[in-house]
Amino acid sequence: MFKGMNIIEFGKRFQTNADCLQYLMDIKWGEGFKCSKCGSLKYWKGKQWNNLRCQDCGYEESATAGTLFHKVKFPLLKAFHICYRVCVSKKGMSSCELSRELTLRQKTCWSFKRKIQEAMKSSEKHPLTGSVDVDEIAIGGLDERSQGRSKGNKKLVCLAVEIRKDGQMGRAYGTVINDYSSVELKKIFDTHISKEKAQVRTDEWTGYAPLKSEYAMERIKSDKGKNFPEMHNLIMNLKSWLRGIYHKCSQKHMQAYLNEFFYRFNRRAFGKSSFHKLIVTMVRTKPLFIKTFTT
Ligand SMILES: [Zn+2]
Repeated sequence: MFKGMNIIEFGKRFQTNADCLQYLMDIKWGEGFKCSKCGSLKYWKGKQWNNLRCQDCGYEESATAGTLFHKVKFPLLKAFHICYRVCVSKKGMSSCELSRELTLRQKTCWSFKRKIQEAMKSSEKHPLTGSVDVDEIAIGGLDERSQGRSKGNKKLVCLAVEIRKDGQMGRAYGTVINDYSSVELKKIFDTHISKEKAQVRTDEWTGYAPLKSEYAMERIKSDKGKNFPEMHNLIMNLKSWLRGIYHKCSQKHMQAYLNEFFYRFNRRAFGKSSFHKLIVTMVRTKPLFIKTFTT
């Protein structure tokens, strides 16, 4: 497992495409081979060193097949480099910066980042517990500062954050919503907040009222965010990150951007293992094809 914390250590560990392929092979088949066509556990070496061939059906599979690295059309070393930068840099990296650094087209970097974001999706297995603050915000659009509830061309997002006993923020999530109705607001509750172990605080927006029957919930006056200082901070951080990294955030990709932001946010204490864990998830996530994300 690579545990390097800076780009020099990364450069020493991964010098060639073969180094990266070997790393993927160890993750994919380190604990044994299973044919993705017939499920057989028996294999021969493939015609290429980085392939394995099924003894039963003869299917020859590469280390990248069936993963998010499937058919990446630029050197794997550069792909690893993007993974490292996006995962370990405090704020990630924009596709323009990556494009300059790696001499790849900006679009290529953006597309590959979109794949990384797929691996950054929450597993939804660890809902928030304890004190959880929830708020809804509008992002982008010319009328970002307007206080109205009309959507315009803004992207609406519902956020939930754990407030620990020491007053620090714990984990957090963000979900794109279509409007501020109870049905839409409920999405983040259903996917990210524990029904049994969370005490939720929201502002007095009526949309939250019906959720009281399912969740332990307190609705308090927001006073322009003053009563939710941690949430206010989180919102400022999220908005400034989005402005810096993604100049245009379309509705279509907003959830992917949120996934990236909260992936790093929730792993800010993980440190050394975060790159390895990302690569493992990328190996275990089904390929995402370019057609899926043409705008
Ligand atoms: Zn087979």
